[in-house]
Order: sequence, then structure tokens, then C-alpha cells
Amino acid sequence: MAALPVQPKFVATSDPAAQWTSAEERRPYFAYATNYLIDTKSSVIMDVEATRSILQAEVGAARTMLDRTEKRFGIKPDWLAADTVYGNAENLGWLVEKRGIIPFIPVIDESERTDGTFSRSDFEWDEKNDQYICPEGHALKQFRRNYSDPARGPDNCGRKKYRGLKATCLACPSKEICCPKADARYVTREPHEEAREFARECRKTKAYKVSRDKRKKVEMLFAHLKRIFGLTRLRLRGPNGAKDEFLLAAIAQNVRKFAKLRPRSIKQEAAA
Ligand code: SF4
Repeated sequence: MAALPVQPKFVATSDPAAQWTSAEERRPYFAYATNYLIDTKSSVIMDVEATRSILQAEVGAARTMLDRTEKRFGIKPDWLAADTVYGNAENLGWLVEKRGIIPFIPVIDESERTDGTFSRSDFEWDEKNDQYICPEGHALKQFRRNYSDPARGPDNCGRKKYRGLKATCLACPSKEICCPKADARYVTREPHEEAREFARECRKTKAYKVSRDKRKKVEMLFAHLKRIFGLTRLRLRGPNGAKDEFLLAAIAQNVRKFAKLRPRSIKQEAAA
């Protein structure tokens, strides 16, 4: 179970690892989260991981399950469909660069502007020269000289800053829709930007739309857990209690699924 970097608001004295959460827009309560890795073709649950009910832990669970499924069964997916929570730079970098998995995941992108000024997507990336080209055709660079000051490189999160030349921007006819409040424009480049760009391109494909529909199958399994299995509260305490209950529930769901997946008899085949 992932630890939180911040002090939790409330701690349950009977189960300190349970997370105080107000997810699902309901009255806050203490909870654990169950995470599934499923085969979208059959809806069979490939792996289950209990975590604290926080987003960081749920993203970490996806990686744990992908690694464990490959190690135990030698199965690695060609693609993975997940919601925006999984679309941060680090996770996309891990999926694409390290595991070679196609991410059908919306990218978390805070660079788009809504005030009418140029967004980062209006600037063209020039890989060869490590620079962006602005809509007016000028270069935005990270370094214009060999600086020894390390503060000019990437920040602690690996984010790089590319700046336009002050003299060029001040004289630019597009300044008002580019950087109205600054002398020169800068844009940032996130770590794993290549993986993020790849994910953006994936999102434009037909396969993404298909994966988005298939992703709903996992939501159906969670709804099934609550409505049919009645797993709205845990009986066992602690992370291990949550782990055991979630695992047993997933096994029960799989057994139910396997019963439906059994091959049809010759008679049934003939009738079909
Ligand atoms: S203000 Fe600077 S960065 Fe923006 S379009 Fe003009 S020259 Fe390019």
C-alpha cells in the first residue's frame, strides 16, 4: 500500500491504514480501493490489487499488476486502456518507453490555454535542434549560451523551459495573443514528452474509441461487486484484510465468468 506524502486529515483508530475519502461525491468515509487489470475481450480479471483510496496508489497498482501478470503468466498486453488519472507524464513514460505498451489513455495536459492566447500545441517541436518554433517562425530555446548555472536546466520535476528572445517578442505582431503580459514567451516541455505525444496521437485513432468502450467493462465489474455481491463494506480490518476480501471477490467474479465462457455443446452449437 502506498504511503501518503502528506498527513491525512483523519485517522481511523481501529484501522489506521484506511483512507479518509470523499470520492464518489458521497459523505466522506474510511476506505480501501480495489484495482483490477482485466482482459477486455472476455472480462476475465487478470489481477487484483488492494490499495489506499488515493490516486497515486491506484496508478502504482496498475504497474504492479502489469509486472506481476507478466511474471506469473508470461502475458503482456499490447495496449492498455485507462482513464485520465493514469495519464501523467511519468506513467506514460513507463508504459511506452519501458514496457512498450500502447497507451489508450487521455494525457493530463495543463498547457492548453483558454484565454485566446497561443497554447503550447501552437508551437512546433524541433527535435533535432532541441527547440520550439513559434507561430511566427522564431526559435524558443532552453539555452542560448553555455550556462554553468544549473538553475537554467530542467527543474526538479524534469520540466524544461524554452524561451523566446526578448527583442524578437517585443517587436512581434502576434505578441498580444502570445505573451501579452510578459516581455518574451516561454513554453515548458514535460519529462517523457515523446511518450505523451505518442499517447495524444493514439487518442486520434479508431482503436482508441474501441478501447474506450471496452474500458467500461471494468466499471461493470466494480458495479457488480457492489450491487450483486454487496461488497459495500469490508468485514476484515487492515490492508491484509482488504487484500483478502478483494481477492476473494475477484475470484468469485472470475468463477462466474468462467462458467459463462465454457465451450458450448455440439447440440448448442447446432441450435445456434
Ligand atoms: S511573441 Fe515571441 S514567441 Fe510569440 S509569436 Fe511572437 S516572436 Fe514568437
